[in-house]
Amino acid sequence: MINFFNTLTGKKEAFVPINAGEVKLYTCGPTVYDFAHVGNFRAYIFEDLLKRFLQFMGYKVVHIMNITDIDDKTIRGANAQGVDLNTYTQKYIDAFFKDIDTLNILRADTYPRATEHIPEMVAIVKQLIQKGYAYKKDGSYYFSIAKFPAYGRLSKINLEELQPGQRVDADEYEKETVHDFALWKAKKEGEPFWETEIGPGRPGWHIECSAMSSKYLGETFDIHCGGVDNIFPHHENEIAQSEAASGKKFVDYWLHCHHLIRDGEKMSKSRGNTITIPEILKVKNNPAALRLLLLSTHYRKTLNFSFQALDQAETALERINEFAGKVKYVPYPEGETSQVARILAEADQWFRAGLSDDLNISKAMTALFNLIKKVDVAIARADFKSQDAQKVDLFIRSINTVLGVITPIKSETAVVDTLRHKLNLIPPRVIVADETEMPKITAQQKDKIERRQEARAEKDFAKADQIRDELAAEGILLEDTKDGVRWKAVPIPKKPG
Ligand code: AMP
Ligand code: ZN
Repeated sequence: MINFFNTLTGKKEAFVPINAGEVKLYTCGPTVYDFAHVGNFRAYIFEDLLKRFLQFMGYKVVHIMNITDIDDKTIRGANAQGVDLNTYTQKYIDAFFKDIDTLNILRADTYPRATEHIPEMVAIVKQLIQKGYAYKKDGSYYFSIAKFPAYGRLSKINLEELQPGQRVDADEYEKETVHDFALWKAKKEGEPFWETEIGPGRPGWHIECSAMSSKYLGETFDIHCGGVDNIFPHHENEIAQSEAASGKKFVDYWLHCHHLIRDGEKMSKSRGNTITIPEILKVKNNPAALRLLLLSTHYRKTLNFSFQALDQAETALERINEFAGKVKYVPYPEGETSQVARILAEADQWFRAGLSDDLNISKAMTALFNLIKKVDVAIARADFKSQDAQKVDLFIRSINTVLGVITPIKSETAVVDTLRHKLNLIPPRVIVADETEMPKITAQQKDKIERRQEARAEKDFAKADQIRDELAAEGILLEDTKDGVRWKAVPIPKKPG
């Protein structure tokens, strides 16, 4: 059973799609007024993980991502450069697709553009007028939120302060300004416009997603995603427009990722702290490591971007790739062992259970690293055969359809192993400790730590050192930090012979 945290209900819920075996997914795409930054890609990578995982679990996923190529920001940008809207947005659209491919994000089935769906938007506005949800003022149309009692359910805003009839024209606004919002904006000097049945003008941002999602996925569909900044007003308004027009539930599951931050602040163009994918790759040209970094923090936690974190992701990925290479390229003796089948079954179960639990990527990655540790031990003990290697290789390939980061590499050890195998010699090995051999701390040992602390307080350093050495021999290493003493359990050194 797959569970997702649904913003609409504020709970983790069992995922049941409308049509068995098929998932209809809509994800808010880029507003192409500038180059997308790594914060935007945090959202797109989360959505890619969601989609790949659903496919891994056997669902057919129909994925639509819109391109907002007309809104307040794109118009402002085009005017500032004195070019027409299409010329202005095209370079950002091209750059977006290039970055998508660089980060190994699967393409959506369709990327509808707002400017190519004006008739569909007008049709919804007309429906809203007919049903009494929309009204006209100075040539623009607004949605009357007082007429839609469910307004505020997604974002949990307080509607008591609502001032009916107050209007907001801007596409983006804060929760403090809960107002009737623009569906259609009257023709204005310096703005592109369309001659339509509801008069000359251009769409508001929110109506774009309502129109494009229903056109490609139907009036009711399974999952809608975006970053948390989309919850209000964008997604709240999408629900109001779509449900008022169709009279049906718009979306069953709303999933939102938290922000990517840099130096403690949300990454956004208005804060001036953005960095793009090409800018990052100029410093460290490792797109797979960047993908892993963006992937490996749970989507409902904030993710701090730094080059140090990118270095760590690179190290982790090297470890995985070296292991994958050792399994794929090194020849092992014929046959198979029973334990590898068991290790694989366990890893697979944890991987699936982790991601089924609201995309808990940490659990899924732990499953992979535990597998690596255990198989490494089996290899070191020469307890690993050719058919085991094939199975582990297949498993890695299968989970990589979700992760999309692994490229097996032939490391130095793999080369040495291969050569020695050809000579029929046993590869030289460092025995890696198995977790099961790790000592756990006992009550007695805890007591010893306390007695050592007392000895230190009494400045009896000889006694303190003696206790420390005793514990070390038992596999408990002590470290004195400014916050107190910390202990670490290590494998007990084997006595020679
Ligand atoms: P925009 O192009 O601003 O409409 O944003 C496109 C997507 O990126 C939306 O789903 C946003 O919620 C998301 N997004 C924008 N900034 C961030 C950020 N700093 N962290 C995570 N997601 C973001
Ligand atoms: Zn949207």
